Amino acid sequence: MSTIFAKIIEGKLPSQKVFENERILAIKDIHPVAPIHILIMPKKEFPDFQSVPAEDMPLITEILQVAQQLAEEFDIADGYRLLTNNGYNAGQMVFHLHFHLIGGRRLAHIG
Ligand code: AMP
Repeated sequence: MSTIFAKIIEGKLPSQKVFENERILAIKDIHPVAPIHILIMPKKEFPDFQSVPAEDMPLITEILQVAQQLAEEFDIADGYRLLTNNGYNAGQMVFHLHFHLIGGRRLAHIG
């Protein structure tokens, strides 16, 4: 089951890469909801966050570190949202785990 993000990771589809190492890729979202909207994903395939096993949690920590780094790089460290939509009822559309890093404008309060 190959998703659009798997194809991007494999280099079969174009993307605007902002970070890449052996384990992680970060790209600009094609339909940004804010001036900065980046998707950070593991290259390893997990359909969603809920399916990440305990032994792969170091990868999640690394993704969070990449998010911090990108927040500095894109000058949004003073205000951003970092989230993952987990599952259909949360509005997930692409079933390859990814985290949205969103900022660059005043974001509406949630919660
Ligand atoms: P989600 O609803 O959490 O699954 O988010 C999927 C996100 O992927 C949406 O914000 C889309 O705008 C974005 N997206 C879909 N296709 C692409 C693509 N080819 N390149 C970059 N972002 C994409």
